[in-house]
Amino acid sequence: MKIRLLPPNMVNQIAAGEVVERPASAVKELVENSIDAGAGKIDIVLRNGGQTYLSVTDDGHGMTKEELSFSMERHATSKLPDDNLENIVTLGFRGEALPSIGSVSRVVLTSRAFGSQEGWQLRVDGGKKFESKPAAHPQGTSVEVRDLFYATPARLKFLKTERTEMNHTTDAVKRLAMAHPNIAFTLFNGERHILKVSCSQGDFISTRLDRVDAIMGNEFGLNALTIDAEREGLRLTGHAGLPTLNRGNASLQYLFVNDRSVRDKSFFGAVRGAYRDFLAHDRYPLLALFLEVPPDALDVNVHPAKTEVRFRDPGLVRGLIVSALKYALAGAGHRASTTVSQAALGAFQSPINKQLFVQSAQRANVTNGFPEASGYSPPGSATSALANLDHSPSAKAEIEIDGNRGTNENFGDYPLGAARGQLHETYIVSQTTDSIVIVDQHAAHERLVYEEMKATMNSEGVRRQGLLIPEIVELDEVAAEKIVEKSGELEEMGLVLETFGPGTVVVREVPALLGEINIQGLIKDLADEIVELDDTLSLKSRLADVCSTMACHGSVRAGRRLNGGEMNALLRQMEATPHSGQCNHGRPTYVELKLTDIEKLFGRR
Ligand code: ADP
Ligand code: MG
Repeated sequence: MKIRLLPPNMVNQIAAGEVVERPASAVKELVENSIDAGAGKIDIVLRNGGQTYLSVTDDGHGMTKEELSFSMERHATSKLPDDNLENIVTLGFRGEALPSIGSVSRVVLTSRAFGSQEGWQLRVDGGKKFESKPAAHPQGTSVEVRDLFYATPARLKFLKTERTEMNHTTDAVKRLAMAHPNIAFTLFNGERHILKVSCSQGDFISTRLDRVDAIMGNEFGLNALTIDAEREGLRLTGHAGLPTLNRGNASLQYLFVNDRSVRDKSFFGAVRGAYRDFLAHDRYPLLALFLEVPPDALDVNVHPAKTEVRFRDPGLVRGLIVSALKYALAGAGHRASTTVSQAALGAFQSPINKQLFVQSAQRANVTNGFPEASGYSPPGSATSALANLDHSPSAKAEIEIDGNRGTNENFGDYPLGAARGQLHETYIVSQTTDSIVIVDQHAAHERLVYEEMKATMNSEGVRRQGLLIPEIVELDEVAAEKIVEKSGELEEMGLVLETFGPGTVVVREVPALLGEINIQGLIKDLADEIVELDDTLSLKSRLADVCSTMACHGSVRAGRRLNGGEMNALLRQMEATPHSGQCNHGRPTYVELKLTDIEKLFGRR
């Protein structure tokens, strides 16, 4: 047996195993270099999802002939000027990306340094460097990578389909573009344009929202709450989607830490905690949050790909995220997302447009004037439309209009307007100055009752129920210790427990609300969450579930007739109650249809 130092190219290929996992990671590393070089515009081109060809071109400060050659050496970097790993302000710092990529593919680097008259080109094939030669190039750098992984066939075999690889690259570029709104980006695959964003003007926060909109879709911008919070030197800004705008997975939840996109499990946990009251457990809100922390409170040197970070104080970060989101959501009050009314309009639109002519032709002998859209009123004449419906013999609608029109009229200026009637004993239709609002009375009332119960719980605490025979639960030692550490918080929620020897806790009291429960199961779930997420989600959500079931039973049922006073009282209460725009499962409690949109439906605009 002979121990030897591995040849440098071997070392680079081993490093490449971690740094360049797939085309997307090569693109990410190259674009990060362009960003670190102060680029204003970055163009990315791929062929076959990057496997045969990928290139990144920038207009940054470029490299001289010597720098070009040096950049391909392992651990050669210009980015740690004071040799201080505690103070990383660039995206790169390990000096590994270029030599790693160069060791597994065929690279051509072309660059012209700032202030220099001539450009230079360097070719590297599977780690073998050729002589640099002069080349024409505007100021900045182009890196072209051909036949990625040709030198490491084992890795090549792990590449997925072109489409999958392209999706990874698109995601990586989107993340980089969201974090750097002052840089223009283009992304091509073959001849196809995947992404193009120009840099916008204005203050940083609005520039960033523009960029986030451009990438996540305008829908997000229209339905996002602004986040701006600070705690002990940490700052969290960005945008959080309204609960009614949600998805089936967390792929549109972005967190950036010091302008670096990171995937952090505790971030997803914090988001789940903050939205828990407003979304079913399998729905995910959309978010783009930007966290700034002093460089020395953060370790980015966790993994070569640098998508993970460690915080000096993870609890502080988590607390900041949860409280900032909750605060913003509370401020959202009764606002529901615009997608809801757009979806509603879409639903109205198609059948009506198709049937427009048929309908008007048949109007004379049709029984119900609005076959596809009962409960929906033309602009400016809500009452006449209601009257119209009332007259149609087949309409099931029950209409009640407040006799006291004078007082009702005054509510027109309120966000949810003046109640004009009740349809199908389920929906309240109201009129604002510029729209028609349809409220699901059951969902709305359920939310109101729920919020009230929560408020009582917060101010008066949860009633506890002592156990006749205290329950002993065995956990592992770490879990038991952690759950006991949280006993203060748990006690506020009605759960009283204490340590009972190593790895064991004894439960003495439980929240009366929960009734007969499986204490063992609850404590084990809680222990898991506390260890993993530092949160007591399962107790909170069980309490919330009970509240919401009770709220559901205590609510005005669909099918109950309300009078004008009751309807208006419900609307006013919704306006005054936080989170009343959605029910406990993220479904909207009301839909607003703007008159301008309704006019479009009728071709009046
Ligand atoms: P790191 O980014 O960690 O420093 P890299 O291997 O990615 O390591 O790059 C090595 C060096 O090459 C960088 O420190 C930088 O000086 C130089 N470099 C790489 N790409 C560019 C670029 N697009 N423009 C200017 N300089 C670059
Ligand atoms: Mg780099």
